[in-house]
Amino acid sequence: MSAAGTPLAPAPSAVTGADLYRLIADLYPICRSITGEGVRETLRRIERQLPLSIREVPSGTRVFDWTVPREWNIRDAWIKNRDGERVVDFRKSNLHVMSYSTPVRATMPLAELQAHLHRLPDRPGWIPYKTSYYSENWGFCVTDDQYRSLTEPEYDVCIDSTLADGSLTYGEWYLPGEREDECLLSCHVCHPSLCNDNLSGIALAVYLGRWLASLPARRLSYRLLFIPGTIGAITWLALNQKTFGAIRHGLVLTGVGGPGPLVYKRSRRGNALIDRAAAHVLEHAGTGNEIREFIPYGYDERQYCSPGINLPVGRLSRTPYQEYPEYHTSADNLDLVTEDRLEQAYRACQSILNVLEHDGAYVNTNPMCEPQLGRRGLYRSLGGAGESPASEMAMLWVLNQADGAHTLLEIAERSGLTFESIRAAAALLMEHGLLRQSADGPASGEPMEDRRGNG
Ligand code: ZN
Repeated sequence: MSAAGTPLAPAPSAVTGADLYRLIADLYPICRSITGEGVRETLRRIERQLPLSIREVPSGTRVFDWTVPREWNIRDAWIKNRDGERVVDFRKSNLHVMSYSTPVRATMPLAELQAHLHRLPDRPGWIPYKTSYYSENWGFCVTDDQYRSLTEPEYDVCIDSTLADGSLTYGEWYLPGEREDECLLSCHVCHPSLCNDNLSGIALAVYLGRWLASLPARRLSYRLLFIPGTIGAITWLALNQKTFGAIRHGLVLTGVGGPGPLVYKRSRRGNALIDRAAAHVLEHAGTGNEIREFIPYGYDERQYCSPGINLPVGRLSRTPYQEYPEYHTSADNLDLVTEDRLEQAYRACQSILNVLEHDGAYVNTNPMCEPQLGRRGLYRSLGGAGESPASEMAMLWVLNQADGAHTLLEIAERSGLTFESIRAAAALLMEHGLLRQSADGPASGEPMEDRRGNG
């Protein structure tokens, strides 16, 4: 799918934060909104790395209680002084125009113009990000310094935009696995030049998709959505209700390259396998990581977790929206996101998805006292030369808890060891005939909440 001249992304095994950052930098200049060419261009660039389907839903389509809006496109915008100089210029920053601004072409007195200007007096060098999707209006977003420099009696104002029947565009990629059970990964693609809020989630989803596609086998199927926030999620949900039954896990990915530790927000269900997997991984992935309870506000988890839908979808971010000063301003730029933070988020997601892929219940085939591990070469055998006592502890934990009623994740939770070490121990014990998959416990990957009936 790679266009001529487009450098191919690295093999998934070699992905680093620099790769995610490069994709962010590539998408950064595009002026996106909830509809229009900016979203299409963004999806076309993602398509070079992931063979997604780009879907168009016509304006006016009813989606639950909402209607797909008219399509917005913008070519140029400016405020000119009496010398004809652009004192505010869309070409310098697409944040200068309030998203969904209706077209304007006028000479107007300063006071009239000021009623359409948005600024951040306490951050004089930053441009705020504003939208007016659902009520027709126009506006410019300027730095406080720019605002104060506007002292002439009148200005020429132009917003060369169109708001017309068209469509809402989103990208979808389905990767089949051994089972129809799905894991949904969703990110929003509707913000203009903002890095942490939208682009970091996009880059993370793209590289997770490439990694998943490279795995030799996958138990789960995966569905990646690149959608405009709110209206895109509502549209997808309204048009794909037959898919809900297959969605067993989901993550909204956003704000993973900015400041702060990793923050996981639980699904409405609160104790779905995705919630437990994410909590477990974050607990081991670094100090300060945080688990938050569900609230009916935030990103598209609001829609996935609305009461009539109630999918087990949580959200992974760093410091959430509104809690860092750069949020929804021009300071959410290429300096705010770092390769290290992006890479840590990527690795954490891989670990979370590995739990979903490999959790399951096993049975100790030799449960009458401990089996003699030394005779089998299993003591000091895990982890090669620099064997760690934790690996032996992992083996003892698995042997003790593998009675068909406890999954590997439950054993990891109880032992305080990582899922990966428990899984490695289980694999080794399987090799030596000391463990077998449980026939009647929760099958591998079967969400625990189904077994307990509290889903
Ligand atoms: Zn936002």
